[in-house]
Amino acid sequence: MSQFSLELDEDQLQIQQWIHDFAEGVVRPVAAEWDEREETPWPVIEEAAKIGLYSFDFFANAFGDETGLTIPVAMEELFWGDAGIGLSIVGTVLGVAGIMANGTPEQIGEWVPQCFGTPDKLMMSAFCVSEPDAGSDVSSLRTTAVYDEAKDEWVLNGQKTWITNGGIADVHVVVASVDRDLGGRGQASFIVPPGTPGLSQGTKFKKHGIRASHTAEVILDDCRVPGSCLLGGKEKLDERLARAREGKSSKVQAAMATFEATRPSVGAQAVGVARAAYEYALDYAKERKQFGRAIIENQSIAFMLANMKMELDAARLLVWRAAWMGRTGKEFKAAEGSMSKLKAGRTAVWVTERAIQILGGYGYVKEYPVERWHRDAKIYDIFEGAEQIQELVIARAISGLRIQ
Ligand SMILES: Cc1cc2nc3c(=O)[nH]c(=O)nc-3n(C[C@H](O)[C@H](O)[C@H](O)COP(=O)(O)OP(=O)(O)OC[C@H]3O[C@@H](n4cnc5c(N)ncnc54)[C@H](O)[C@@H]3O)c2cc1C
Repeated sequence: MSQFSLELDEDQLQIQQWIHDFAEGVVRPVAAEWDEREETPWPVIEEAAKIGLYSFDFFANAFGDETGLTIPVAMEELFWGDAGIGLSIVGTVLGVAGIMANGTPEQIGEWVPQCFGTPDKLMMSAFCVSEPDAGSDVSSLRTTAVYDEAKDEWVLNGQKTWITNGGIADVHVVVASVDRDLGGRGQASFIVPPGTPGLSQGTKFKKHGIRASHTAEVILDDCRVPGSCLLGGKEKLDERLARAREGKSSKVQAAMATFEATRPSVGAQAVGVARAAYEYALDYAKERKQFGRAIIENQSIAFMLANMKMELDAARLLVWRAAWMGRTGKEFKAAEGSMSKLKAGRTAVWVTERAIQILGGYGYVKEYPVERWHRDAKIYDIFEGAEQIQELVIARAISGLRIQ
């Protein structure tokens, strides 16, 4: 029986240092510039590909770690560098997760490498679920997928919104409704291969934070994809639809378990943003003098920093627990994955706001990075399940009731 330990092993420490060096040396120096440009930072992604960070191999190995901690450790370091650039580097993993969750081994083998490409020819994916009228309520998607039997093609029509890498990705993974009467159980995921006619980018959004990450609408107008692009295959879909129509149980539980297992990695990103702000504020408070002494010598500032550090560590512990549970197959009885993401998001918003307070006027201007970190932090209360949705999931898990 192995001893309980929160110490990272040699491999994890090496990866942590490797990504920290990249975040410090490559990401941070250009973070303010890409935030202002509001464009995908291709040169930084190229650098990440050159060192093997933007690659299928890196993520496959990291997900393979038996403790589950390599992914959160990697996310925290990269997002400590910058959240917008970080998301530009890891956003493709959303599409990968969509393929891994539903694809056959052949589909995974064909499409996942195309979500990264090679250092010479970068490729990217996007995961398209959200719609203007279906955000938290993903069971009400309006995008349709209709099968054209004569041509063995699926015809996709609809509008997706808020899509990370939407329109600029090579591979779009689109969730669409095959039978709207069945709600979430009548949906399926499709690969839209590079260059497919009928898929286009709509409005690109100008955002509050994570501005180096591209977010846009994706329009599907009679977009035809081969039958082989239905993830999981037609036979499996037909079986699933038949079961749903008979009112038999579905794999909703399995989907929930997948969300619980992926949420800690998003929480870890928020921990990275919070840590960046805490460290900066701590250093600043030791340097800045008012009334003849460093501002940290005032209890109100020192206690603020003590609380920031405590909240940060608490959030990380919840993230690590959930990541370990996900990797070791523990049952998420209290929605521990949602808990970790909820706590980390709130912590990032609170810690970055306190950091602005500690810097005073300097915290409020763009010459200093903390205002950007605060803007970036807010997304963690919204995407990958908004704050209230995480509460709902936890409340349902602990009560066993269908809380509304
Ligand atoms: C920058 C960015 C990137 C994104 N990237 C992607 C992406 O790559 N792919 C993708 O598919 N989507 C993406 N999203 C969409 C994101 O997942 C949604 O914004 C999120 O799910 C919330 O949906 P909504 O914005 O429609 O808000 P709504 O669902 O309309 O929610 C509005 C408010 O109501 C609350 N609320 C809703 N229902 C309930 C309820 N039952 N009980 C209590 N409160 C409730 C919510 O918590 C929220 O506070 C992204 C969004 C952003 C902003």
